[in-house]
Amino acid sequence: MKISWNDFVEECNSCHACPLAETRKNVVIYRGSVVAPVMFVGEGPGANEDEEGRPFVGQAGRLLQLLLDAQGFSEKDYHIANVVKCRPPENRVPTDAEAAACKKLLGKQILIAKPKIIVLLGKTAYTLFTGDKNAKMTQIRGSFIEKNGYLILPTFHPAYILRNNNERIKLWQDIEVARRKAEELGLMEPLPAQPDMPTSRPGSR
Ligand code: SF4
Repeated sequence: MKISWNDFVEECNSCHACPLAETRKNVVIYRGSVVAPVMFVGEGPGANEDEEGRPFVGQAGRLLQLLLDAQGFSEKDYHIANVVKCRPPENRVPTDAEAAACKKLLGKQILIAKPKIIVLLGKTAYTLFTGDKNAKMTQIRGSFIEKNGYLILPTFHPAYILRNNNERIKLWQDIEVARRKAEELGLMEPLPAQPDMPTSRPGSR
């Protein structure tokens, strides 16, 4: 069954499949391009995202954007989403039941966005895609897993990098791995020169 983006957005906006619907201000669906070669999946919206209705617009999102821009990603190249579309109170980790309730919508979103590469930002997204709750991000990050025709790349969540800036190089390297794969598959143009990792803190709001 083919579903249109507009119908999908309507379905998300009217969703009450889990208790997070009760406390949300906005359903947070995506930013970037509706159809894109690379999809990034984080955990869930925070306060800024809930307010604006767009994912990764707070401090962690600005760090991600800083790295994406430096790696030459333009808006047409990515589609950014989360495991859950409504903000968990106090920014807690979504429960298994909440993640499971929202999985159907994320599945539809992936079918519409048609990414070849899916970058999982953090453990919650990794667990949703693999069922593995015990993996250590330090051990699994940066290597592709092939699943259902998608190339899945786990890495750190940018919020973790904000708290552990000495690990920024790892997120940077993993974004580069995703970019190089996209180039290899003819989905992105190669960069004219090897970029340097930005070392600045993302700007505050
Ligand atoms: S988090 Fe997902 S499943 Fe829960 S109400 Fe929001 S859109 Fe629906």
